[in-house]
Amino acid sequence: MTALDDKTIVREYFNATGFDRWRRIYGDGEVNKVQLDIRTGHQQTVDTVLEWLQADGNLEGLTICDAGCGVGSLSIPLAQLGAKVSASDISEKMVGEAKERAIATLEQSENPVFTVQDLEALSGKYHTVVCLDVLIHYPQDKAADMIAHLSSLAESRLLLSFAPKTLAYSLLKKIGDFFPGPSKATRAYLHREADVVKILTDNGWTVQRNTLTKTRFYFSRLLEVTR
Ligand code: SAM
Repeated sequence: MTALDDKTIVREYFNATGFDRWRRIYGDGEVNKVQLDIRTGHQQTVDTVLEWLQADGNLEGLTICDAGCGVGSLSIPLAQLGAKVSASDISEKMVGEAKERAIATLEQSENPVFTVQDLEALSGKYHTVVCLDVLIHYPQDKAADMIAHLSSLAESRLLLSFAPKTLAYSLLKKIGDFFPGPSKATRAYLHREADVVKILTDNGWTVQRNTLTKTRFYFSRLLEVTR
């Protein structure tokens, strides 16, 4: 399967069944137990990013690119904290939902600035680039180009989260693949932490913070790298 195929599938998924599924998971309405577990885990990742960025004490006016922003789970609180947020996603429906949530929460539509865009087509320079739980849609052989592109946008810092490839998680994924639910329509790619760190190092980054968030059904390795 080519990268173009993967991207087309991902875009179509997040504009259709994936949109309904993930909008509910990333919301506060009623969901099933597995979805609730994933919601809890994902919120922990978002909270960790907010905690790390706030700890540095320079969020006011800081330019941040949220690549693959989904429904704005990170972009909206970042804007609330004073950062200048450029948020984008390949899915028009996810961006539409993010805009609605931003207006409802922030009562303005200037910040974040939302666009529908493939993250590998993004341009510009930002103090910080964040890309949460998007690498799961990238096969191993496409990860290096994707991370190199994000690196070219980031002046000082990059935060990246991904589902780590370990023996236990590979087995869990295999079991999940045997019982595909009706809305699990995209392929999920796990990545070895050592491979991601190597790509980041090759792009001139140094790991500053590193944590694993895991609940029963959600697992995500979060790295913060700086130059
Ligand atoms: N980062 C958000 C968060 O943590 O709340 C959303 C995570 S969601 C699992 C993955 C998102 O990545 C989806 O909204 C999807 O449309 C987006 N995505 C996947 N591939 C993308 C690409 N090449 N460019 C931009 N967005 C992409």
